[in-house]
Amino acid sequence: MKKALKIFLVIPAVAAIIFFGFVPQMIDKSMNVVSKKPPFPKQKYYDSIPFIADLHCDALLWDRNFLKKNDHGHVDLPRMIEGNMAMQVFSIVSKTPRGINIENNDDHTDQVALLSFAQLRNPADWFSIKTRALHQCEALHDLAKNSDGKFRVITNKKDLQKYINDRQTNHNITAGMLGIEGAHCLENDLNNLDKFGKAGVRYIGLTHFFDNEWAGSAHGVKKEGLTEKGKQLIKKMADAHIMIDLAHASQKTISDVLAYHNGPVVVSHTGVKGVCDNNRNLTDAQIIEIGKHNGIIGIGLWETAVCGTDAAATAKSIRYVADKIGVDKVALGSDFDGAIGTHFDVTGLPEIVAALEKQNFTRAEIEKIMGGNIRDFFLRNLPD
Ligand SMILES: [Zn+2]
Repeated sequence: MKKALKIFLVIPAVAAIIFFGFVPQMIDKSMNVVSKKPPFPKQKYYDSIPFIADLHCDALLWDRNFLKKNDHGHVDLPRMIEGNMAMQVFSIVSKTPRGINIENNDDHTDQVALLSFAQLRNPADWFSIKTRALHQCEALHDLAKNSDGKFRVITNKKDLQKYINDRQTNHNITAGMLGIEGAHCLENDLNNLDKFGKAGVRYIGLTHFFDNEWAGSAHGVKKEGLTEKGKQLIKKMADAHIMIDLAHASQKTISDVLAYHNGPVVVSHTGVKGVCDNNRNLTDAQIIEIGKHNGIIGIGLWETAVCGTDAAATAKSIRYVADKIGVDKVALGSDFDGAIGTHFDVTGLPEIVAALEKQNFTRAEIEKIMGGNIRDFFLRNLPD
């Protein structure tokens, strides 16, 4: 009888240890694959590029010790410093549907709830999308606190300017900024915008993989445009100096935002139909209109963004945007750690530099594309 009781208790305990101890890391490892082996050779001038930056990564979704060098995934603090990365925007993923695809998704399922449970995150995160998103914001600030001064979270112009000055003499520091992927985490309440603003969020992608109460997604069921509430949201965002990210937005949402909003927009991680024609990428007309809005377009590293996964594919789409709206409005939007397979992690960005050289960009142009444009865009558009 005792033996039966022991088995009854031990088997679930062992199963729980295996599940909670290994499954989240297994998911991370299998979803954020790097196909080439480091180290990645650097150009002679690579480490003297003053400001390398990237508009989008999803590293906060995973349970990884960000302060240590990991042998999997794409981004952590030591690898950012090794890759001479000055600033990475950390975007918050708070709900994704089962069977995720770029054509058609509803909002009935919530894989991030299951992941939060498997990661044994705060139980409030299992049930509240807003809470899990706010906890990811806190996590980035905690990393800064625990980094011995090596990592800062940038939220305003003054801090960015100070950081740029400090980094001129010290490349062993790096920085992050917060963005949101999908305004569904506002839980349909405009007042929640202030909470995310206070938490340091500086851009918000209106939609992620499904239509929400604010706007239609490129991958949603109806793919409609801005709703009346969505129009109120973008006005309030402009007043709060929180930028609009058009990545994942439906065609109609993109047109509506560009019609109702005069200020600059971000497309944090995307591709262009002129190189890679699918549902999630920008048309020529959209690229030109974003240019007129003084926006910035971040080109990704993954298959559906650039129809390839090597640096040459990314550089080809960068060349396409630069030829349409100028070299000052295009940047990197890698989507590192966004459940994508890439050739390299953040230490492999010299491969992008080499591919940009092959696209006949000058050294000065390469410095802009690799991060100078992002630095200047945020210097213009962050709150004081
Ligand atoms: Zn995304």
